[in-house]
Amino acid sequence: MHEMSLMESVIEIVCDTARQNGADAVRSIRLDVGVLSHVNPDSLLFCYEAIRRGTIAENAALEINRIAGEGWCLDCGKTVPLEERFGACPDCGRHRVQMTAGDELKIRDMEVI
Ligand SMILES: [Zn+2]
Repeated sequence: MHEMSLMESVIEIVCDTARQNGADAVRSIRLDVGVLSHVNPDSLLFCYEAIRRGTIAENAALEINRIAGEGWCLDCGKTVPLEERFGACPDCGRHRVQMTAGDELKIRDMEVI
């Protein structure tokens, strides 16, 4: 389950950032998780419960924001919705679509006290 190491990194970054800003605690964390990334939001939440204990993010609320898949079709020359990795273009049906969104896992923002 790679969500555990991902969540460890997130908590580490969040706690470091909070301390650098002189905060006593983290109130909330918002993550952007792409639907095409190999990250399971339920697993992330589960790992978060285990990892946040004993940190200054112990009482923080975690919000996971899902980012829809999107790609650039080389044949149509435009941005199209993407349902799966290496999926076909919904307009022309070809597979020359470069993924431009939906693969991310990043910290959108956080709130400290
Ligand atoms: Zn196309």
